[in-house]
Amino acid sequence: MRLGTFLSSHVSRLLLAMTTMALVAFVATPSAGGPPVSRYDALPRPAERLVQPMWLPHCGMRLVEWRSTAALRDETAESDQSLAVIDSTCRDAFQRYADFLRSKHLNKLRAEPDVLPAMSLLPGNVLLDGKASRSLNDLPSRFEAVAPGCCYWGLYVDSLNHLFVRNDPLIKDESGALVTNPRFVRTLTHEISHVLSSRLGVWDIVGYDRQRDEDLAEEFVAFMGLHFPAESSAEDLAFHRGRIPLHGAPPPSQPQPAMPATVSTAANASANTSKQR
Ligand SMILES: [Zn+2]
Repeated sequence: MRLGTFLSSHVSRLLLAMTTMALVAFVATPSAGGPPVSRYDALPRPAERLVQPMWLPHCGMRLVEWRSTAALRDETAESDQSLAVIDSTCRDAFQRYADFLRSKHLNKLRAEPDVLPAMSLLPGNVLLDGKASRSLNDLPSRFEAVAPGCCYWGLYVDSLNHLFVRNDPLIKDESGALVTNPRFVRTLTHEISHVLSSRLGVWDIVGYDRQRDEDLAEEFVAFMGLHFPAESSAEDLAFHRGRIPLHGAPPPSQPQPAMPATVSTAANASANTSKQR
């Protein structure tokens, strides 16, 4: 999912500057009810930032925030293996993006991206902690101004130059070993299409269209050989808990895995079944 650009980059930069001034003016005025959520609330607060941002060489991005999920500690904690998954996903996607654009007959303004975003890794599964305060699907106090509705696995906010992504680069396989989470790779690959199409100036040439950008991101996922749909939080939970085989659907003889009672009663029905963007 990408949000924030409906205008050419020059206009958005001007608008951003104006919005910044307006925000400063607003914040300077005392308000009894507290200010509404602004787009800047989406950015990590100083206390939420990593003391040492992590540089991802093949992403050309700095990881500035990483919140793990208690229920999936090993899969979502900072580790060399997690960082390697992120960086190699970037390496593969960046390597192929020019070929991909050519295959779509799309031109770019620049050979290299002008500027790349900072990155936050946040809980995204709305059946776990994805809706908790400051998580990826915390709309009320963090993302309301930039995300039109629940729920996301990744969110690129062009106007903030920030990429927000789910926090689970790893998953446990049938033997319990930590391996690359193919669904994290899918999410990050999709988001990289949003980042690169914007930063290479594709939309400066053809004009920005949100649906076209979204379609392009999905086509890039397929171009990269990732031929499975985005999943719901319920499906993600089933993958993480080994109820669905990691690579593919359950055999046809088996019924669809039932939702555990604790989850199906606790969760919002739409969040259970909707595919996340
Ligand atoms: Zn998207």
